[in-house]
Amino acid sequence: MKKKEKEFYKKKLLERKKEIIDKLSEVYYESKEVEPDIVQDVGDKAESSYTKEFLLSLSDVERKQLFLIDEALKRIEDCQYGTCLMCNRAIAKKRLGAIPWAQYCIHCQEKAEEESS
Ligand SMILES: [Zn+2]
Repeated sequence: MKKKEKEFYKKKLLERKKEIIDKLSEVYYESKEVEPDIVQDVGDKAESSYTKEFLLSLSDVERKQLFLIDEALKRIEDCQYGTCLMCNRAIAKKRLGAIPWAQYCIHCQEKAEEESS
């Protein structure tokens, strides 16, 4: 994958990550029981590791997505990004455009879903 492409997907991933974290910050602001300082704290910590409270306040979908985004960002750094973790084939660009944190190509994803259902 070209450097320009990697930058493109990295940006997409970071944008989505920010969306999730921003949404959480809003939840914190709305809650009167929590001091504004904590929101800042959560924002800082979210860059490296996540606090238990932070993860608990996310829905399952967001939590999973955040995890997948981090994994995808790691793969970009390791130059593994865009390759299916199951069959090692390239994931379609169209798929990465829609789901930049995708771990599997469409075929393996379908297979995995069939097996889990
Ligand atoms: Zn695959």
